[in-house]
Amino acid sequence: MVASEATPYAKTGGLADVASALPRALVRLGHAVDVVIPRYRGITGGDRVARVAVPLGTSIADADIYAITEAGVRTLFVGHPPYFDREYLYGVGNDDYGDNAARFAFLARAALEWVAGTGERYTVVHAHDWQAGLVPLLLRHTLAGAAAFRRVPAVLTIHNLAYQGLFEASWLPRLGLEWELMHVDAIEYWGRISFLKAGIVFSSRITTVSPQYAREIQTPEFGFGFDGILRSRSADLIGILNGIDYDEWDPARDPCLPVPYGASRLDGKDAAKRLVLELVGLPADDEDRRRPLVGMISRLVDQKGFDLLAELGDELPRLDASFVLLGAGERRYEELWRNLAARHPGRIAVSIGFDEAMAHRIEAGADLFLMPSRFEPCGLNQMYSLRYGTVPVVRATGGLYDTVRNVDPATGEGTGFTFDEYSPRALLAALRRALDMYRNRPAWRRIQAAGMGQDFSWDSSARQYAELYERADNK
Ligand code: ADP
Repeated sequence: MVASEATPYAKTGGLADVASALPRALVRLGHAVDVVIPRYRGITGGDRVARVAVPLGTSIADADIYAITEAGVRTLFVGHPPYFDREYLYGVGNDDYGDNAARFAFLARAALEWVAGTGERYTVVHAHDWQAGLVPLLLRHTLAGAAAFRRVPAVLTIHNLAYQGLFEASWLPRLGLEWELMHVDAIEYWGRISFLKAGIVFSSRITTVSPQYAREIQTPEFGFGFDGILRSRSADLIGILNGIDYDEWDPARDPCLPVPYGASRLDGKDAAKRLVLELVGLPADDEDRRRPLVGMISRLVDQKGFDLLAELGDELPRLDASFVLLGAGERRYEELWRNLAARHPGRIAVSIGFDEAMAHRIEAGADLFLMPSRFEPCGLNQMYSLRYGTVPVVRATGGLYDTVRNVDPATGEGTGFTFDEYSPRALLAALRRALDMYRNRPAWRRIQAAGMGQDFSWDSSARQYAELYERADNK
């Protein structure tokens, strides 16, 4: 596998979780998997196992390959300090590094040079997202003649179609790619080049991270201009729901929680709620803890519904609930939430930053989890929430649609509260339905128990990937 991030080494989002948990699950099924990621600043350790020469345009640069094996998975780190020894993975704030095209072309080429030089026989190469999008192109086009790659199919997984790796066409020669690739059936995309498109075109199979998102991205509304390309590959495109890593996310053995808990005993959840309220500076007495706490953990971007929440603003604290947000992202949303918290200090708390331990505590301590995404390829937090007895309130899109069952008002059956229309009104209505139900304690317990009983472990997803690898041919 080739990816731009993998836990525990480098993470900005769900991709990192998948690039770590999927290989581990495949290993448990008896497969052998190597994962290649960049050796970013902060990744130390590992043995240097090779040095490969990486041609990029007219120049050739060395990459030192380091290896660490954990949980049966060998991770190979591409070391090239000018590209990867930087403060951030992709850029500062919203500004991508100006040479990302070269950095991730380098990653792709270095990964394949490693494959060619190692003598190992890999049976499939699996690339993740645009950052690895050139891997299928190099494999099927530039390096297609190499013995190491004969009959080795490429699989691409799209974790988020909104990120397409678009660059000016003038990059082509600097990346060592021929102008003939500047073609609608190759890397060209409306006069520019797209790494993601290259990945889609040159892979024998394409996957995305939920069945519903696989359907949605073939429509203009969710296709970001790629719906036509994806429809033309629809026979080779499938959605496989991400699993979640229950070694990391299980309230019965989560070291971040003050008291472990499970479906039969929920006291630990109240202890976590008290801790979260105290940590973020909200009132935490017995009386205060009776008020439902709504948690959010998210990148602060439009995709996650923050434009809807911005419109609701001061309406939120008028509900009988408190809110805690952990997130980082666009400055306007950071400021908006800081201001909201300042105006409603007893009801809204905001923690700006990336904090894994706090994420675990909020998952446990919140009563409801809010995820009003405009689109959501899979989404992990709603699945963590279900496991932690924290009832999700979500927009029914992508993986949220596939994983959260709307509570039926007649029977009380379901695992969460969903809404369809992308509007502040619909969000508010769903939140109100959830808060009303919260007062009915026995009904709420049933919803919690139904969610906690769901199984989203990686094993069944990994089996689907293994079957896909078997079927993937050398297109
Ligand atoms: P995406 O990959 O689009 O950001 P996902 O729900 O698939 O969304 O995955 C997000 C992952 O990142 C989850 O594991 C979530 O807990 C984590 N996460 C997001 N923001 C933060 C944060 N500020 N602090 C800690 N973890 C975060």
